[in-house]
Order: sequence, then structure tokens, then C-alpha cells
Amino acid sequence: MKELKERIQRDAKVIGDTILKVDSFLNHQIDPQLMQKAAREFVQRFSDAPIDKILTIEASGIAVAILTGLELNKPVVFAKKAKPSTMPAGNYTARVKSFTKNTHHDVVISSEYIKQGDRVLIVDDFLAGGHAACGLIEMLEQAGAQLVGVAIVIEKGFQEGGALLRGRGIRVESLAIVDCLQGNTITFRE
Ligand code: 5GP
Repeated sequence: MKELKERIQRDAKVIGDTILKVDSFLNHQIDPQLMQKAAREFVQRFSDAPIDKILTIEASGIAVAILTGLELNKPVVFAKKAKPSTMPAGNYTARVKSFTKNTHHDVVISSEYIKQGDRVLIVDDFLAGGHAACGLIEMLEQAGAQLVGVAIVIEKGFQEGGALLRGRGIRVESLAIVDCLQGNTITFRE
């Protein structure tokens, strides 16, 4: 997605050759117009696939996931990083490593909101090692739901997540794939 790549080139900060800081439009301040265009692009790329629900993980994927749900007129579910006391028993859970914080969370989805047979599109802001996506997929398997694919705003192609998911036969659509972060130079995959 050309506009997204231009925005990354203009506003992203490279931290230590592996992390892209995009707080000005995706991870802290959010540009709703750009996220709406990202959501429309997801919908167009998955237009051949019936989708019942959007699934993401808190917190940074929620904005673009909601806009995708709005475009599709479908509900959006986000996995929580801690189980609230108000959540009834009978949940799906997975242990997910946080790439940026180097911590682990036992993430949880209530079984009320993902049901057997639901056709689910996973949406997230970044794909790095694939930990978040694999955790979400594990919970969809617990539910007996059907994974339609994984829609990502920014994939870091030099990390293993994309190859891991595609190697499992999972359809991954990323709007920008960064192949290299070096110094302050950001190189995209064509
Ligand atoms: P993964 O689970 O694929 O290893 O990492 C994806 C998650 O880690 C995303 O949900 C995102 O929040 C965070 N993340 C991974 N790499 C980056 C990065 O370079 N920049 C930012 N801002 N977040 C990242």
C-alpha cells in the first residue's frame, strides 16, 4: 500500500535495527483516515473469502480491526492480555510472548464470542516473530473456528513470523513488508 509505505518512510523511527516506532500514526496517536484506507485494503484483498468475525489482540491492533469490522459490518473481538474477574469460565487461552516488551501474557478470549464454525480474519498492526498470530490461531483451534487469514499493517520480513505462517499454509496479507532496517534506512519488499 503506497500511502502507508510513504508514511512509514516519512514518520517512522528505527530503533536498533529491529524495531520500527510508528507512534505518530499507528501505536499511540492514530491516523483514522490512514487506518480506514488500510482496513479497506484488507477487505479488498480478502473479498473472495466469507468472514464472520475479526479477531485481534489488545492493544495496538484494535483500531485497524474495528475499522475493518466496520467496513465488513461484522463484529470485532480482541483477545485480552489478562483474564478479568467478570469473565465466565470456559475460555480459550494461549501463552503469547510480547516482542517489544520481552514478557509473556496468558491471553484469553471468552467462548461467548468465538464459536465453532465461525470464519475469522485475524488483524494486527505488526507481524514480527509471529507469536501474537500463533497464539490467536491456537485459540481459534480451541474454539473449532475457521481461520480465513491474517491481515497485517506492517510485516517485518526479516523476522520469522511471515515465513512461519505461510509455511503452515496460512494466507497472510501485509500492507507493507519491511525487509531491512539499518541505520535510518527502511527497505521495503517490492
Ligand atoms: P510478534 O507477535 O509477531 O512477534 O510481534 C507482533 C506484536 O509485537 C505486534 O502486535 C506489535 O504490537 C509488536 N511489535 C512487533 N514488532 C514491532 C515493531 O517493530 N514496532 C512496534 N511498534 N511493535 C512491534
